[in-house]
Amino acid sequence: FFRRLKMGLSKTRALLTTDVDDLLLGRKIDENLLEELEEKLITSDLGVETSMSIVDRIREVRGRIQTGEDLKALIREEILREMDEENQGQTQESFMGFSPKVILVTGVNGVGKTTTIGKMAALYTRQGKKVILAAGDTFRAAACEQLAMWAERSGATLIRHKENSDPASVAYDALDAAIARKADIVLVDTAGRLHNKVNLMEELKKIRRTLDKRMPGAPHETLLVLDATTGQNALKQAEIFHEAVGLTGLVLTKLDGTARGGIVVSIQKQMGLPIRYIGVGEAMEDLQPFDAKAFLEAMF
Ligand code: GDP
Repeated sequence: FFRRLKMGLSKTRALLTTDVDDLLLGRKIDENLLEELEEKLITSDLGVETSMSIVDRIREVRGRIQTGEDLKALIREEILREMDEENQGQTQESFMGFSPKVILVTGVNGVGKTTTIGKMAALYTRQGKKVILAAGDTFRAAACEQLAMWAERSGATLIRHKENSDPASVAYDALDAAIARKADIVLVDTAGRLHNKVNLMEELKKIRRTLDKRMPGAPHETLLVLDATTGQNALKQAEIFHEAVGLTGLVLTKLDGTARGGIVVSIQKQMGLPIRYIGVGEAMEDLQPFDAKAFLEAMF
């Protein structure tokens, strides 16, 4: 997992290491250099705010910085501080006191939502939990088939209806089945056709209402899956979904691709939402809970 993550972040790493070294070569840390550095940080998708605060911090202590290593250590420290501020120990999911815990998973088509649900199911069943999957993307037969395959692979139970049936009723039935069978977790897949945004958001709201009707307080978690290779576009999606359905966490996929890793930092900062998981591939073991320290290690 770490190796794949490291590979995916190689472009960002080059930006934040080699380029920073080159920048410093034979120069002193003056305003010109700080400006160039800020530009580099923004290019790596760290976000304007984070980039500026890193540079401010460097400006404050520039007398202490002798080498490229000093500079990089400072950048790393500052990013970690920014991430910790947002996360405040809430990255880890809690399963205490839920029976079952209901997790609604949203995201635009193609971001890796179905794969993520499959990988999450595998993760939970490996922990000995009983998992029910709800095939809520009833408009795409392929999504349902894909989910069925993941259910089989992970040992989770799939609840599905006919094609084009009401996703809210699938969600309701899945929760009903989970309560009857004393399952630990219900993962609800949803549609992701953004070309009909209003319609989709209404559908997601209805699923939420329906789950809450069957079990007050459900869903306990509403995740948005984002493709990290889409950079700032991912941030826009997060804003739209958050406003419409109220997210509680994010999942970033395809960090093995040509992702600009900085997006992970900036999205968390801008949305004020914890990143629950990151994905680095299509296999069962390619999903892990997000760990800011390990992530930064892979990035630098
Ligand atoms: P959905 O439309 O959001 O449900 O997306 P899918 O789960 O069907 O995934 C879309 C494509 O992205 C598929 O080809 C997946 O195999 C691929 N995919 C999903 N997650 C990852 C990931 O973390 N890394 C890579 N490289 N590919 C992924």
